[in-house]
Amino acid sequence: MNLDPTLLEILVCPQCHSGLDVDESTSTLNCRNDGGTCGLRYPVRDDIPVMLIDEATTA
Ligand SMILES: [Zn+2]
Repeated sequence: MNLDPTLLEILVCPQCHSGLDVDESTSTLNCRNDGGTCGLRYPVRDDIPVMLIDEATTA
């Protein structure tokens, strides 16, 4: 994946507002779950993160 680091700094999980970790092995952005149990994984398509809860998968 080729993601804009500036974009990654401002992106948060739309469900719980935690930060996100890049997972190259699955091409997803994984919710960091700060103090919660959210754990959603957002797909990255054509290097564009899809930050939609409806499109996210669980761990
Ligand atoms: Zn989350």
